Amino acid sequence: MTQSVLDKAFRDVVIANRILANEGVVDAYGHVSVRHPLDPTRYLLSRSRAPELVERGDVIEFDLEGKPIGGDTRPPYLERFIHGAIYEARPEVQAVVHAHAEAVLPFTVSTTPLRPVVHMASFIGARIPVWDIRDSFGDTNLLVVNMAQGRDLARGLGAERVVLMRGHGFAAAARSLPEAIRMSVYLPLNARVLTEAMRLGEVKALSRGEIEAHASMKPDDPAMWRAWEYWAVRAGCGDLLTARP
Ligand SMILES: [Zn+2]
Repeated sequence: MTQSVLDKAFRDVVIANRILANEGVVDAYGHVSVRHPLDPTRYLLSRSRAPELVERGDVIEFDLEGKPIGGDTRPPYLERFIHGAIYEARPEVQAVVHAHAEAVLPFTVSTTPLRPVVHMASFIGARIPVWDIRDSFGDTNLLVVNMAQGRDLARGLGAERVVLMRGHGFAAAARSLPEAIRMSVYLPLNARVLTEAMRLGEVKALSRGEIEAHASMKPDDPAMWRAWEYWAVRAGCGDLLTARP
């Protein structure tokens, strides 16, 4: 039983990687993790590899400080600290995505806020903060490469679901991997719609009540599974799916 829970988590990380690649959320860069299902002080994340290519054997257990468990010496992602810092700050968070999706980038460098405007994106939250690494760390290469920077980013995220990273990308925190993937796929779509709508003129965003109407959806809701299954099959890894929870 214990082994099957862990095995499922490893397979789900592979599925999540393949989906994000297939849906164009990540390219050679970007990553996704899940909190260890049996030890909340660890998380599962691939070694440094493009998400489209990630396999079961690439997934490594890390402690929240970003150290590989068991002395795995394969190069890890430089920005793995994003994951551990968010898990450390937010005990309820079970999955984290970091990506550089192009459609989101204009909102990381402009003063126009990214807001949910389409119903599929309502669960990205009413407020999407923008974190600027320069505020605390001055001129850097913009990458989050240590725990101090990761924790600063986690503070920027606060209690929200998504934080934009100035000139860089975004980090999303969710209650499950299917939820994290759903948010990460619809976040760029919402950004594209908002950008197009602003070209046309005034924009009507979702109201707080409309956003909250979706907030009651559980992370294991059948609607969440429906998208996860669909995207997994589309990404060619339907064989890795386990039975619906
Ligand atoms: Zn990055």
